[in-house]
Amino acid sequence: MAHKKYGYSPKTALAQALGKIDQETQGVVLPIHVATTYIRGKDNSYPSGNIYSRADNPTYKPVEALLCELEQGHEALLFGSGMAAATAVFLALSPGDHVLAPKVMYWSLRNWLLNFATSWGLKIELIDMTDIDAVKRHLQPGRTKLVWLETPGNPLWTISDIAAISTLAHEAGAQVAVDSTCATPLLTQPLALGADVVMHSCTKYLNGHSDVIAGALIGARDDAYWQRIRTVRAQGGAVPGPHDAAQLLRGMRTLHLRVRESCNTAMFLARQLEQHPAIAEVLYPGLKSFSGHEIACQQMQGGFGGMLSVRVAGGEAAAIHVAAHTRLWKRATSLGGVESLIEHRASVEGPGSPCPADLLRLSVGIEDQDELLADLLQAMPEQ
Ligand SMILES: *Cc1c(COP(=O)(O)O)cnc(C)c1O
Repeated sequence: MAHKKYGYSPKTALAQALGKIDQETQGVVLPIHVATTYIRGKDNSYPSGNIYSRADNPTYKPVEALLCELEQGHEALLFGSGMAAATAVFLALSPGDHVLAPKVMYWSLRNWLLNFATSWGLKIELIDMTDIDAVKRHLQPGRTKLVWLETPGNPLWTISDIAAISTLAHEAGAQVAVDSTCATPLLTQPLALGADVVMHSCTKYLNGHSDVIAGALIGARDDAYWQRIRTVRAQGGAVPGPHDAAQLLRGMRTLHLRVRESCNTAMFLARQLEQHPAIAEVLYPGLKSFSGHEIACQQMQGGFGGMLSVRVAGGEAAAIHVAAHTRLWKRATSLGGVESLIEHRASVEGPGSPCPADLLRLSVGIEDQDELLADLLQAMPEQ
């Protein structure tokens, strides 16, 4: 599909970073702008449009333009982390506003919502976002201002129906924001499905090399809410450094290759592990046995993502045994890098988490799929 603004496919947009060259030097890679402040003209205006780089750094612009193109949004904003981007969406609301968010979601954001956002005055309700009737029951027309979705949702990879929930939320007067980190802009297009704001932790697939912390928001339109989000960033100052922004753009240029490889290998591993006696259950949206599979087929294109979880038949101790005995799979948190990671997720999330104790979360990288499988199998405890 050729996109409307750039005129080429997402693949081409990514590989060429929208094809811009540096006008001054004719360099095929754009320069990094380190200046924090810009000259004011004699007429007292700012002829470059840049004033101070907390709000405007020219290094962000090509990254934001590419994100905006991929998500077909009105505007994209880079942030200093995924959490900075996500929290800006909530900080742009007002104390007293009612918010619906999923029970299964990125753990640190869930913690922030329950501890910080509630003490700041937001009324946060965590619900089962896979259940449309539950969404209907909990929406309070006029009071609910935001519905937050994460799909596939960490770490059970639950799928929520962006189109159906957006219709319901809009009828109730609420905006919809989607944490689309694990879907990436290539597999799901939340704005086209009706969402108002998309969030990415660029730390994950977008950068893809586990060496930059950054986040982004893409807005569907320029309304009062989006303006408040812009102000949260400009005044709160949760922005990345210019070197990180440039490194992120370099990472993004191979996003399509990395995501395709991770999706294929994740599907392969999910099918293989589903048949293994030491594995009680494989959670992966691409499996027919998975409860969200049908909606995933409707709203994801080109793959079901590079994230899967397995529940180990021997329980928590057996799960920790597997994680302890892998060689290729690296024992670490995070996801979306070129190297495959394994994590006993309940140990990270702690009490109150919906994550079962026998669950291992797998972030599938771009290594050889047979070697990744063999490494998991040799790490399984004796039956
Ligand atoms: C990592 C992650 C975040 C937070 O992003 P940071 O860049 O680590 O702040 C939010 N949502 C999801 C789904 C994530 O995986």
